[in-house]
Amino acid sequence: MSRLILNNAHVLDGANPGRRASVIVEGERIAAVLDGTQAGTGDDRVVDLAGRTVMPGMVMGHYHASYQDLGLVPSPFGLDAPTALQALRAAKHYRLLLDCGFTGAISAGAPNRIDPAVKAAIAEGTVAGPRIMTCGRDVSTTGHCNDLSYPTQWQVGATGGIAIADGPEGFRRAVREEIKDGVEIIKIFATGGHGVGSPCDHWFVSREELDMAIRTAAERGAKVRAHLSNRDAVLCAIELGIHIVDHGDGFDEACIAAAVKHGAFLAPSLHFPSVMMRVAPPYGEGMRAEFEAMAAILPAADAAGVRIILGDDYGAYGFPHGLYAEELPLYVEAAGVSPLTVIRWATANGAAAMGLEGECGRIAAGMLADFLVVDGDPSADIRLLCDRANLLGIFKGGVAHKDELSRIPARAPEKAPA
Ligand SMILES: [Zn+2]
Repeated sequence: MSRLILNNAHVLDGANPGRRASVIVEGERIAAVLDGTQAGTGDDRVVDLAGRTVMPGMVMGHYHASYQDLGLVPSPFGLDAPTALQALRAAKHYRLLLDCGFTGAISAGAPNRIDPAVKAAIAEGTVAGPRIMTCGRDVSTTGHCNDLSYPTQWQVGATGGIAIADGPEGFRRAVREEIKDGVEIIKIFATGGHGVGSPCDHWFVSREELDMAIRTAAERGAKVRAHLSNRDAVLCAIELGIHIVDHGDGFDEACIAAAVKHGAFLAPSLHFPSVMMRVAPPYGEGMRAEFEAMAAILPAADAAGVRIILGDDYGAYGFPHGLYAEELPLYVEAAGVSPLTVIRWATANGAAAMGLEGECGRIAAGMLADFLVVDGDPSADIRLLCDRANLLGIFKGGVAHKDELSRIPARAPEKAPA
């Protein structure tokens, strides 16, 4: 089998400060990472990267592929768009994720079995996209602010995006239905807050309902994530074994200790509020206090061992798709974490949240060859990742989604790593 040999790579994966090495890709995996320049044999392709960066593909840890902001993209169809149109939007957005350097995605909700469908379409080669951990409907209780199932006189229903359940038995059944539909991580709307139409201190699930959901999912190898926007609910969910805390407003020292103990991931999703504070001030300002509190605690949470991941509600309320990588400099600038740290959140932590620890998220022998070739050093300038033109290569499982390595001039002068 012919190999791809990347000589003079600046290897960066968040687990080390970066080193000069050669990366050898064989089939779908990284065969070796070696010091010094390696010669090829036979049909091997050898590229001298002259110091350009090889880093793992990033993981979008909170994503709604079917979301389409209709203020930004006019359409005759709103939330009532036919399933086929919603699926086409999702396919477009999943491809856009890959175009932006995200080789993995953990969905945070999509109606009408769209995630399992697009995942199958990617596996078939029908469309291009990242590895996907599928999600389904928002599971919540009667009267939750997303519960559009009544008043009933006009038979106005939700558009397939909501599953209403009540009581532990209701949650057991709802989780089983989601899993039957091909969902790998079930989304529960546990509280209000963080941009939705109810206060953050409102609980929409009971401890018993959440416990049943998490245990039922675990019985069949599925995970649970939850919209959580008050401290007591965050702590409760972590203690019950939640896989991903979404938003996590109110996260404090007790939440840090519990998340480390139970291994919960945190998707702080500060990108949406940061954009809203700029483009929709009255709405955005409503999230400022939570934004500042979360930004302030993130460095301590990371240092204690909480596994933080990227991801947000792109496509919602004036928050366009495609800005994904801009979440990395946000954490550098607003939370004061280092570029290398936020690269680790985007890569190793994201892969672990997908259940792919030891398979993805590192540049090391034996790993799946999900990686990027970046023109420059993102650990010195994290904003390099925000410009897709700097992504010279995007590989998933050793297969090139984007390959502009030929743009690198032969015997180019060395770029000194910063
Ligand atoms: Zn969301």
